[in-house]
Amino acid sequence: MTVAVVGAGLAGLSAAWALEGAGAGAAADVVVLDAGRRPGGMIVTERRDGFVVEGGPDGFLAAEPDIQELAREVGIEERLVDQVARGAALWTGRRLEPLAEGKAAELLGIQVNANAGTQFRTFTTGMADVVEALVACLVPRLRTTQGVTAIAPAARGWRLSFTGASSLDAEAVILAVPAWVAARLLAGVGVSAARELDTVLYAPSITVSLAYRADQVPGTLEGTGFVAAPDAGGAVRACTYTWRKYPNRAPDGLALLRAFVGPVDGDPASIAHAQLAAILGIEGDPLWTRVFHWPRGLPRYPRGHAERVAAVRERLARLAPLAIAGAGFDGAGVSACVKSGREAAREILGRLGSHVRG
Ligand SMILES: Cc1cc2nc3c(=O)[nH]c(=O)nc-3n(C[C@H](O)[C@H](O)[C@H](O)COP(=O)(O)OP(=O)(O)OC[C@H]3O[C@@H](n4cnc5c(N)ncnc54)[C@H](O)[C@@H]3O)c2cc1C
Repeated sequence: MTVAVVGAGLAGLSAAWALEGAGAGAAADVVVLDAGRRPGGMIVTERRDGFVVEGGPDGFLAAEPDIQELAREVGIEERLVDQVARGAALWTGRRLEPLAEGKAAELLGIQVNANAGTQFRTFTTGMADVVEALVACLVPRLRTTQGVTAIAPAARGWRLSFTGASSLDAEAVILAVPAWVAARLLAGVGVSAARELDTVLYAPSITVSLAYRADQVPGTLEGTGFVAAPDAGGAVRACTYTWRKYPNRAPDGLALLRAFVGPVDGDPASIAHAQLAAILGIEGDPLWTRVFHWPRGLPRYPRGHAERVAAVRERLARLAPLAIAGAGFDGAGVSACVKSGREAAREILGRLGSHVRG
């Protein structure tokens, strides 16, 4: 028996790990397939010369349990670290002003649970710590550069087709892919309601990490960073003082900033540096910069999203075991993605019933 998890972002890896943990690995082959060259999806951490550079997410709310439970399960609990600096500022276009707790996420359009607090946590050497721990557990089961182009009903479950005309039969499938990919794959098996999942909007974004000597950056900078007011002007929407927010992000005597930049004409790194130099009073050029482009970054859900996802799940329950998981459906935060992946695994295990558990 084969259970295929399509997508090796955090949701897919969490689903595969939950299947393994429930004993499915003994009774079934769990196979994780990803179109990309590396697992982790939006989680990208680069470590260079003592710096920890995040391309995608850099942390999660300390009150969110799922990712931390996962960290315990895969043996990296001691790698959880708390944010050091507190508080953020608002860039008005003319000056930096203190910002009320919790306002930063609201200004950035990130949906957060009002009861979840504002304390963030991450991992000692970046968000990829959790991906690497999962991959170490799942390595024989993981196949990269395996983009699934179609799913079709098969005699016992599903047939997955790949780029290059090969295929794989699986009794059960978890689609842990972005909403627009799931929309296309599910529409192909006649789940017409799934086309509506394409309405999830993935906002484009660019993150620019910039390294400086600490003496180039004014010592008066306070808090974790700033968010630009909607009418502030300029391309920089927000900036994290990474080396102040989390421990060990830069070697002693050096500083690391990360800017969130909207679509720009020209080099995002030069634009980010010029604006940050003007806003923060940085002197001289950066030591280096690193740009990550996210043409489809954080998902934003249109009105009625939860009902549309529920309708798709209701329809899927009447087919051979097939589940959806990930940021496109159940919340964009990394901890929500872990939860979503685990729930999909639980659902699939329930559908496969005693075949697997026995
Ligand atoms: C710049 C940025 C900053 C962020 N900051 C934070 C943060 O600080 N905190 C936080 O909690 N969240 C943050 N997020 C959101 C969070 O990172 C994502 O929502 C989450 O990582 C998504 O995980 P996922 O597994 O659902 O999807 P993804 O990570 O998108 O993984 C989906 C996987 O599916 C694969 N795939 C796609 N199509 C196919 C196919 N046809 N066949 C096979 N595989 C396929 C992709 O290659 C990818 O690996 C941020 C996101 C971005 C872009």
